[in-house]
Amino acid sequence: MGKVTGFLEYERIEEGYAPVEQRLKHYKEFVIGLKAEEAKVQGARCMDCGTPFCNSGCPVNNIIPDFNDLVYRNDWANAIRVLHSTNNFPEFTGRICPAPCEAACTLNVNDDPVGIKSIEHAIIDRAWEEGWVVPQPPKRKTGKKVAVVGSGPAGMAAAQQLARAGHDVVVFEKNDRVGGLLRYGIPDFKMEKSHIDRRVKQMEAEGVVFRTGVLVGHLPEGSKVTNWAKEIVSADQLKADFDAVLLAGGAEQSRDLPVPGRDLDGVHFAMEFLPQQNKVNAGDKLKGQIRAEGKHVIVIGGGDTGSDCVGTSNRHGAASVTQFELMPMPPEQENKALTWPYWPYKLRTSSSHEEGCEREFAIATKEFIGEKGKVVALKTVRVEWKDGKMAEVPGSEQTLKADLVLLAMGFVSPVGTVLDAFGVDKDARGNARASTEFFGGYKTNADKVFAAGDVRRGQSLVVWAIREGRQAARAVDEYLMGASDLPR
Ligand SMILES: Cc1cc2nc3c(=O)[nH]c(=O)nc-3n(C[C@H](O)[C@H](O)[C@H](O)COP(=O)(O)OP(=O)(O)OC[C@H]3O[C@@H](n4cnc5c(N)ncnc54)[C@H](O)[C@@H]3O)c2cc1C
Ligand code: SF4
Repeated sequence: MGKVTGFLEYERIEEGYAPVEQRLKHYKEFVIGLKAEEAKVQGARCMDCGTPFCNSGCPVNNIIPDFNDLVYRNDWANAIRVLHSTNNFPEFTGRICPAPCEAACTLNVNDDPVGIKSIEHAIIDRAWEEGWVVPQPPKRKTGKKVAVVGSGPAGMAAAQQLARAGHDVVVFEKNDRVGGLLRYGIPDFKMEKSHIDRRVKQMEAEGVVFRTGVLVGHLPEGSKVTNWAKEIVSADQLKADFDAVLLAGGAEQSRDLPVPGRDLDGVHFAMEFLPQQNKVNAGDKLKGQIRAEGKHVIVIGGGDTGSDCVGTSNRHGAASVTQFELMPMPPEQENKALTWPYWPYKLRTSSSHEEGCEREFAIATKEFIGEKGKVVALKTVRVEWKDGKMAEVPGSEQTLKADLVLLAMGFVSPVGTVLDAFGVDKDARGNARASTEFFGGYKTNADKVFAAGDVRRGQSLVVWAIREGRQAARAVDEYLMGASDLPR
């Protein structure tokens, strides 16, 4: 364990942020990671409590007490070995995971939890600096060919595991760059894209082939999901060319708000707005980028995607940014006696909120009002919740100025036509139907077709996508070889 009395002696140390006025001038990361000495002190706080709830709170089951101890003992080379044994991409999760492990930390029962995510971040950044992250090509090839559709964290994790097991893996991606929502969705200020590029190089050296700009199957007419494909490959072709196909295309269908005025200019899905900025940051020239400068921006939707719209709008120089949430404001503090070790219901204030944002709770949008085809205002009403049912508050209607409205109300499902092209059954929510059972998990009803990540579970988290990618890789390996040594 860390230091026996560490949790009594040391306070939790938070990672720092660059000042708001500085970080608003650019799109780069602004989190200041822990120094080695700080990470060591943080590791010393781990109690090695015997039943590490953090380990089961983490979706990839990171072996947290062990790497805490290794960092405390200054053994960073073994710390990254332990971390990589469960997580292919700790530099992604060490930056953008909401850290359910920390909610589950035993110290969190009556104190501040160990800063697990910040230790993870420190370990992997040190490992890259030291040159410890190197390609691990397989010793033997199997001669089996696997197609992975989608290059988000699920597809990447699966492809890396399958290539290391000796299979010939080709990843098909309709967008022009690898990474899924890590690349085109999550803003650079939360995670710079060089982290993906570095992993792509490592994976290519391990034998993975990435084919970007290739759409597998087809999208519905007028679809607004990101798509920079220059080539189309049919589902049948893929099935004919490969021994197994893993669908990892995410759940890209945004939830819409079909109220009067929805078609007005200036009302957009968050996922039209955010990827454009990521492209510009990557050096692409865009015609007609959706810009927020000088505008009164209203973001509809109180989650992560909405918060990313807030941060991006402020960097554009918006005149004002307001975020709407349909639900009432959660309590500022959770009731730990009721919630530990689970993810608590409480108010979450992101770094983007701290940069400037009015937050309105229990509010619904009734109509977008336009002039000459452009949105200029929103008609809203306050709502209250009784017995789980929503009711409008009479007389609470308001009209609020808005020149740009960003719809960030979550995602309903994967794009159905792609699943249909493979003949894959869907569950009640339109996701690919496949279980996560030890035997037969991740396999769909369609011959040789598997599914993992958001396409199977619905829009979720990067860490869940990595877990599913790893587990699905094991299932595919077992299907192809009759047995698998890959970890589950
Ligand atoms: C704005 C935003 C912010 C988020 N912030 C966070 C966060 O801070 N922390 C966190 O943990 N999670 C966050 N998430 C959620 C997280 O990004 C997703 O849960 C995760 O990326 C899902 O991984 P995936 O690999 O299943 O799918 P995706 O990342 O969606 O990747 C799927 C890929 O498949 C490609 N594809 C789809 N269909 C086809 C096809 N037919 N042919 C070829 N390619 C195809 C898509 O273009 C895409 O690149 C956020 C999501 C959004 C939208
Ligand atoms: S991946 Fe997320 S849940 Fe797991 S240890 Fe890291 S921060 Fe915690």
